[in-house]
Amino acid sequence: MPAQSGPSDFIAFTEPDYDDVLPITEDDDFIARALADAELPALLAALALVDDEPELLGDDLKPPLPPMDSVIAPQGGMSAASQERARAVALQALIRLRDRGSVRAAEPSAEPSAAALNRIMRFLTKDAGPEYIPLLRHELGLPRDYGTPGWSKQDIAPEADFTVAVIGAGISGMAAAHRLRQAGVPFVMFEKNPEVGGTWWENVYPGCRLDTPNYAYSYSFAQKPDWPQQFSEQVEIEAYLQDVATRFGLRPHIRFGTEVVEACFDETKQGWDVTVRDSDGNTRTHHFQAIITAVGQLNRPNIPDIPGRDTFAGRSFHSAQWDRELDLTGLRVAVIGTGASAYQIVPAIADQVEHLTVFQRNAPWMLPTPTYHDDIRPGMFWLLRHVPYYGRWYRFWHFWLAAEGRLPFVQVDPDWTDPHSTSAANAALRSQLLERLKIQLADRPDLLAKMTPTYPPGAKRMTRDNGVWAAALKRPHVDLVVDPIEAITEKGVRTADGTVHDVDLIVYATGFHASDYLEPMTIRGRDDADLHEYWGGDARAYLGVTVPRFPNLFMLMGPNTGVVVNGSAIFMAECAAEYTVACIGELLRSGYRSLDCQETALKEFCDRVDAGNKLKAWGAVQVSTWYQNRFGRASQVWPFSLQEYYDITRAPDLAAYELLGHHPEQETAR
Ligand code: NAP
Repeated sequence: MPAQSGPSDFIAFTEPDYDDVLPITEDDDFIARALADAELPALLAALALVDDEPELLGDDLKPPLPPMDSVIAPQGGMSAASQERARAVALQALIRLRDRGSVRAAEPSAEPSAAALNRIMRFLTKDAGPEYIPLLRHELGLPRDYGTPGWSKQDIAPEADFTVAVIGAGISGMAAAHRLRQAGVPFVMFEKNPEVGGTWWENVYPGCRLDTPNYAYSYSFAQKPDWPQQFSEQVEIEAYLQDVATRFGLRPHIRFGTEVVEACFDETKQGWDVTVRDSDGNTRTHHFQAIITAVGQLNRPNIPDIPGRDTFAGRSFHSAQWDRELDLTGLRVAVIGTGASAYQIVPAIADQVEHLTVFQRNAPWMLPTPTYHDDIRPGMFWLLRHVPYYGRWYRFWHFWLAAEGRLPFVQVDPDWTDPHSTSAANAALRSQLLERLKIQLADRPDLLAKMTPTYPPGAKRMTRDNGVWAAALKRPHVDLVVDPIEAITEKGVRTADGTVHDVDLIVYATGFHASDYLEPMTIRGRDDADLHEYWGGDARAYLGVTVPRFPNLFMLMGPNTGVVVNGSAIFMAECAAEYTVACIGELLRSGYRSLDCQETALKEFCDRVDAGNKLKAWGAVQVSTWYQNRFGRASQVWPFSLQEYYDITRAPDLAAYELLGHHPEQETAR
């Protein structure tokens, strides 16, 4: 079924044309065939919005939502009989939709009622309590975008001189820019690269693609229904982000090729002097009332200081600095590292190279994902293009599945004594993963020994497995080396057993300086306090966003806002962006010029988060992981549910802040 394109005329209640669908012109048989590929729970939800048939949301069709095990049961765990019935009910609804001329059952211009939406959301979420409803609405985005600020500068403080610097035009920067634009707050975005996209612009190594489901890995305000794959390739995400920048009018605000090198707080003006360097090396300083840092966590390559590194006669580079023009044919290649990047690179290049040597320190746990490289099935793709809001409901379904995700499996039971797991549930997950590994490596006990992780699942990031990693490592011209690297020589890599592995190219898939938040920028706050000195290598921020002594400095993807086994980074970035814009709204309303986080608020927040992380595998287990900083503190990770982060980022608690620089003439009525 080829993809079609073209506008539709029967959707009226949301703005972006991502929601456009095509009229159904196909016959009953075609529709029935398409339904064989459908993801049913979300389809029933989408159809219930356009068709009044109560059977669509019948109790017998409600997905039971099995716990997210090593794999999640297809169709939300619906029985075969209930799937068959769901297809029959859906077929009739689709035929009715077609025969009405693809027009909704209700008044075409009518917004769906809150009651209707709530009923459908309860169906999909197995009766999630009312406390979830605001979050669920935010993610569904119907009938409107619930992340919209709900105020405009023009209305609350038209005269206030308040311009924001956004540093970085990647995922989080664009989320913030969109919200600022909606609020009518002037802003300038500084982006060191020549395009938007951040990590998705920079990482072009072979095999680069998503490892979280794509539908949930997209903005709530820009829901694209026609992703070609559930784990799309880098080019797709890059194109999406570029499209968002254009579609939402962000490009005119972006200064490309411009890097922020320093920001100093001016106590008189209660704002920031921001020094930028352009691509010619010229520096300039501009004044802003606030700064939003959106520089990502994983963009400063970590190339380990291995003795002799500079003596290597061949070529070497970091995975994030891949040369697109490089021809690997005939090359003997070393890949150092077996994290998420190496895991994608190795199977992608194994066919091209003469010889491949993979150097592993710790084996990754691999989550079975048999469909990892698959396209969205043709019938499903057709349905996504023809059923109003199916993409939204499908995204919503994935969001809900991941909201708690595998958190129960990485919990630490304080009474658990087995060093290979952290609880009974974690041990059960471990044995499932191990079983699958044993099946894949039944013919290679040598590899099984090397590839069996020695730490509990969840202590490090798990990779997505559809078998290609083991298959690549089994190839005759591929070696997996686990002897520690001792040195780099002129010819290659020397390991502790004395072997020199001769190679032409070394790829450092060795990760990033994730803990060095906001490096290498110099940031000076009140009383000339230096941010990096203040942190001393242990970055902390209240809600992951604000830091005492650095007023009006807001961080996105800041400390302790990363998620590991539940949800996506985009959700966390959107929450922090909306919180930041709400803080700016408070300033504009109150006439204060800046807000400075209280030390007590930061301490309370960090104590709670640290206690939470200590009860998670990544916080309790001592193993090398970028989730922990050099003090062993899990400074990257949010240990709780998405719901909790959503709740605490809805509105600023002004008691957590000192408000500074009151300008009474700017005060406006609340
Ligand atoms: P990473 O997960 O930190 O992995 C780095 C690898 O290099 C590890 O295997 C590490 O070994 C090894 N290593 C580091 N220093 C070494 C040394 N001195 N000698 C030998 N080995 C060394 O880095 P990454 O693979 O670039 O991934 C980082 C994060 O980026 C991921 O966790 C993920 O969040 C994100 N990412 C996402 C995707 C995606 O699919 N969307 C793709 C790539 C990356 P140890 O395990 O022993 O530390």
